[in-house]
Amino acid sequence: MKKVVLILTILASFLCVSNAVYAGTEYSVSFGNWDNPLAGRMKTNTEWNYLSAQYQINHGKKHLGVDLEGYVGKQVYSIERGEIIYIYIDDSSTYNMSNIRIRYYTDDYDSFTVIYGHCEAFSHLKVGDTVRRGEGIGNITDYGIPKHLHFEIKLGSYLSDAWGQMSSNKNPSDYGWVSPEIFLGYNDPS
Ligand SMILES: [Zn+2]
Repeated sequence: MKKVVLILTILASFLCVSNAVYAGTEYSVSFGNWDNPLAGRMKTNTEWNYLSAQYQINHGKKHLGVDLEGYVGKQVYSIERGEIIYIYIDDSSTYNMSNIRIRYYTDDYDSFTVIYGHCEAFSHLKVGDTVRRGEGIGNITDYGIPKHLHFEIKLGSYLSDAWGQMSSNKNPSDYGWVSPEIFLGYNDPS
């Protein structure tokens, strides 16, 4: 299999070189320069980070994304031009698991999926639609305290129902998950 290098362009405009391994394949991807999914200052804390140790202590699972603080109804934006591959609308008024998934491509045409969790897609959107970079795709739903967007990234196209967390005895990177913090190039401001 071809060996390639993962290049992360950190928003702070310095380069960081690393390798991402997914199912035996090393992807060549140029990360960075993506729009902020909440179009504002992203805020999190250690429990809400990707693979947070505190999350494992509190929930007994590995957290597969990063939780970005918001409020119910706050608009969520597509980080890049991509194709909607999955929409789930949860009717629950609380603990709402609505999510929308968009497939994007890196500069090297490798696909990856962003799962926008606790996000109810706008009703005019449907699977197969292309959304623009920065286009509003939905609103944050009522889940947890504080309310947040669960932002998760998996290499390839991801349609399985499972998202959000994984058994503590598994390694998410073996299944294609990558760190959204590194992907988006931001630091925990707390
Ligand atoms: Zn989460």
